[in-house]
Amino acid sequence: MKRLLFAVAACAAALGAHAQSYPTAKPITIVVPFAAGGPTDRVARDLAEAMRKPLGGVSIVVDNAAGAGGSIGANKVAKANPDGYTLLLHHIGMATMPTLVRNLPFKVDSDFEYLGAVNDVPMTVIGRPSLPANNMKELLAWLNQNKGKVNLGNAGAGAASHLCGLLFQNALQQDMTTVPYKGTAPAMTDLIGGQIDLMCDQTTNTTSQIEAKKVKAFAVTTAKRLTTPALKDLPTMQEAGFAGFEVTIWHGLYAPKGTPADILTKLNAALKVALKDADFIKKQEGLGAVVVADKRMEPAEHKKFVAAEIAKWSPIIKAAGVYAD
Ligand code: ASP
Repeated sequence: MKRLLFAVAACAAALGAHAQSYPTAKPITIVVPFAAGGPTDRVARDLAEAMRKPLGGVSIVVDNAAGAGGSIGANKVAKANPDGYTLLLHHIGMATMPTLVRNLPFKVDSDFEYLGAVNDVPMTVIGRPSLPANNMKELLAWLNQNKGKVNLGNAGAGAASHLCGLLFQNALQQDMTTVPYKGTAPAMTDLIGGQIDLMCDQTTNTTSQIEAKKVKAFAVTTAKRLTTPALKDLPTMQEAGFAGFEVTIWHGLYAPKGTPADILTKLNAALKVALKDADFIKKQEGLGAVVVADKRMEPAEHKKFVAAEIAKWSPIIKAAGVYAD
């Protein structure tokens, strides 16, 4: 018994020492469940830079574990060693995957420690540059003339672009051929090249392409118009006649379940410093994104928010009748 107690005490001391020295053992990895160069990757890389200093200058690397609409990367973190060195940056997919993907290999509510929300990002409906339509009215007429022939790119079942495309097809009562990619970065390359016709994607990926006129932009998915210079003239989907069409993508940061509490506290404190960093805020604003404030930076609040988002999207997705295995 004495021996056992000694072993337990030694173990606790080792854990404590480890948590105290965190994060000096090795670089921290933020897993992004989509391709490099895309919108989620962009948020993760900016966040990694802003979190580095409050974590004592540790290196923070991004691992793009892309595929299956974001579920491969999320699963990798759900199964990772809970030592604070592997984190997940994911978007609204945390709330839509449980309904959109039938056999999800992890549980969103019980396989992760929630660290807090990061930002809210609008989406834009964009098209290939050679598309004959120049505004939403002309796009709707073109879609009507091309029923059965339209290709819509997305980042796989469960992704934000999948959700938005689904809502778009539902609102139009028109099926399109969806082309899944490992992220909207490769989808964007094909859209610019004219291999696909349309995409609905976050402004963190589309703003610079819209600015450079490499794609055509038709609408934003927020309830109000945006103020970002390159996007401010775009109508909302509601103005374009789609009553109730509103989708905003949010991002959150997570650790594997079982990560020690003091490490989680350090990570949340660093997240809060990053979210108040003027440079990070400015970069995000330039891309149409809004960094979260106050309560949404809190782990418990973010967990409640994700649960509310699951409750919000699940009936909409079920009504649309779309699932992926
Ligand atoms: N925009 C992608 C999505 O549809 C995510 C990404 O590629 O980063 O969810």
